[in-house]
Amino acid sequence: MKKLIIGNFKMNTTPSEFKTYAMTLATKARGARNNIVVCPPFTHLSLAKEFLSGSKVAFGAQNISAEESGSFTGEISAKMIKDLGATYVIVGHSDRRGLFKESDKTINKKIKTALANGLKVILCVGESLQIRESKQTQNFVRKQIESVVIAYEPIWAIGTGKTATNKDISKMVEIIRKEIEGQFSAKAGKNITIVYGGSVGLKNYKKIITNESLDGVLMGGACLDVDTFALIARENY
Ligand code: PEP
Repeated sequence: MKKLIIGNFKMNTTPSEFKTYAMTLATKARGARNNIVVCPPFTHLSLAKEFLSGSKVAFGAQNISAEESGSFTGEISAKMIKDLGATYVIVGHSDRRGLFKESDKTINKKIKTALANGLKVILCVGESLQIRESKQTQNFVRKQIESVVIAYEPIWAIGTGKTATNKDISKMVEIIRKEIEGQFSAKAGKNITIVYGGSVGLKNYKKIITNESLDGVLMGGACLDVDTFALIARENY
């Protein structure tokens, strides 16, 4: 089964280090059948465009502003990252929710801004999942959902070496699908892409990725080692 393999660098690596990483990963990812995405810091996105374009590896940002443009010093807009060739953006990571106090309302606005700019959204949710109602028409929402990847990431499992059991993951994935089914449609619930994140690495990736309720994984720490990331991304599941 084709899976989605996502690497979230968080605030790690310098642009020079990333350049080497990207060149290596582009080579190692040749022939891989999984969809592979890396999300480095903003400062590396033009390098990602330069060294990953034409390869099997797509790239995205770890965050965007909820605003389109204007007086928001230090912020980066959806349009800016789209212009640099990003296809994805992570929204609502627990680091953003916890450290930067991002509310569901802000996250909801970021999702809309990202989708309006043609980006695919990797929406991270933890134990406190709340799906906000959209005021758009059903078809529009269905289309939006197609561009959203939900990353179920128990906060206690991120960067701790602890992972949820497959039983717990499947249960939560079912809850998320049911919620989407109720809010949108049976088709949307079935088709939404859901990945798991939280200390996925060499020791446990096989067990987690082969969980049939999941469409893939999001890795933080483990994606920083290009050999590990490429090995996990290349495998057939
Ligand atoms: C993350 O940061 O989203 C993450 C899953 O990190 P780690 O794999 O290091 O737990």
